[in-house]
Amino acid sequence: MADGSNSAAITDDDLDGLRGALEGDALVSGDSAWDAGRQAWNLIAEQDPALIVHAESAADVAATMTFARDHDLRVAPQSTGHGAAPMPDLGGAILLRTSRMASVSIDPGAQVATIGAGAKWADVLGPAAEHGLAALHGSSGTVGVAGYTLSGGLGWLARSRGFACNSVRGMEAVTADGEIRRVDADTDPDLFWALRGGGGTHAVVTSFDHGLVEMREAFAGSLMWPIERAREISQAWREWVAGAPDELSATLKLVRFPPFPQVPDPLRGRALVAITFVYAGDAAEGEDLLAPIRALGEPYLEHVDTVPAPALGSLAGDPEDPVPGGGAGYLLETLDEDAIDAYVEIAGPDTDVPLIQLELRRLGGALDRSDPAHGALDIAGADYLLYGVGAVMSPEVGEAIKALFSRIEERMAPWTADHALLAFAEQRPDLSSCFPAATAERLERLKSERDPDGLILANHGDG
Ligand SMILES: Cc1cc2nc3c(=O)[nH]c(=O)nc-3n(C[C@H](O)[C@H](O)[C@H](O)COP(=O)(O)OP(=O)(O)OC[C@H]3O[C@@H](n4cnc5c(N)ncnc54)[C@H](O)[C@@H]3O)c2cc1C
Repeated sequence: MADGSNSAAITDDDLDGLRGALEGDALVSGDSAWDAGRQAWNLIAEQDPALIVHAESAADVAATMTFARDHDLRVAPQSTGHGAAPMPDLGGAILLRTSRMASVSIDPGAQVATIGAGAKWADVLGPAAEHGLAALHGSSGTVGVAGYTLSGGLGWLARSRGFACNSVRGMEAVTADGEIRRVDADTDPDLFWALRGGGGTHAVVTSFDHGLVEMREAFAGSLMWPIERAREISQAWREWVAGAPDELSATLKLVRFPPFPQVPDPLRGRALVAITFVYAGDAAEGEDLLAPIRALGEPYLEHVDTVPAPALGSLAGDPEDPVPGGGAGYLLETLDEDAIDAYVEIAGPDTDVPLIQLELRRLGGALDRSDPAHGALDIAGADYLLYGVGAVMSPEVGEAIKALFSRIEERMAPWTADHALLAFAEQRPDLSSCFPAATAERLERLKSERDPDGLILANHGDG
């Protein structure tokens, strides 16, 4: 496997050759655009590659891969860098930025969006909505379609529609041999399977054909109470979501809003317990479903309404701008009263945790319905996701966050599943820690068949 340690020296002529072959740009350290090019959305990622290529087309991606092969370099594709925290040393790699490949076209008849590999979900929501359609995006419109889809894609509609990767109808990708290929169930079923949830190591995808769903609006919003009520609200949330229909998705968060001026006044510096939900149905039914939560009494803050589908891209209130995020995610098999007590004990009132939020998401529904037509990520295999994230403002805070994650692992062990969800595993997971053994073996076998020299470098292990 090329590790870059023997990278052939890149001469000015080589670089001129690469630049001549590209529509986009190739940058070396010292170029004025270098620092902006190596900056990931997650500011904790220190990326110092051998070269940066800003690709503008599949042909640019192919030219980059050929150049990398000829110079014993690896290729690390990246759209936004939301998933950059687990990236290894890039010294022997070309950082292949795809953000200029952000075209979106909608086929309303087929209900499919063809999305360039550099697009963010926010780029898709408006064009889809013009046709009364919605995409299977996650909590933030700033997340890239590529990394999200390749690692599964757990969105607001997942309980009724499953992982986003399983609604992909086909892709265009460049394989390690430098060929631009159509990848779908007919043309290349093995690669198509791997790229739906098995991570970004088997090929560099240049565009996705994503299935859309008919949805103009949803009943959705957030209710927040002082964190002192964390136990009672959290237990009520647990009972509420356990019996909820698949059309209802809801998260629970113990959240500490930082005292920053850009945080709006009622939230700034506050510690709250928040329920955020989406009901893909009408408001009257949604209000009926909300009754057990309404019974908890007047929240400190509430914003619940019928909203246009694109508004779901910002409903969770995730940061829009780059942040230094230190996160960790765990799948929980079950969530009983004791698990909620442990959750509140970790980050509830009377604790001083270095986290912005500790979130629980109810999974289940379509996420647990296996289908042979699915890709590598078939089912969640667990009923809840626990995800914590803090702002790493200094190395000391980073250490404190790590220590807290160790404590969370220990405290939540009785409920934790034996596998993780690739999209939320930020500690450079091996595929064997995210998939059943047979799936991990198939993914590893395909990697050695399709990319025997390990040209493509992903943000997870085994690639
Ligand atoms: C604020 C925030 C909210 C999030 N919310 C959700 C959520 O609701 N649901 C969910 O499932 N996940 C969520 N995530 C996790 C997110 O899906 C992953 O971090 C994902 O990897 C981000 O994709 P990206 O393309 O933006 O990131 P990038 O860092 O650009 O890419 C991540 C990895 O994907 C691979 N990759 C990217 N582009 C390509 C390509 N063209 N070809 C091959 N491989 C490629 C590479 O291995 C790359 O390292 C969230 C993350 C953040 C930071």
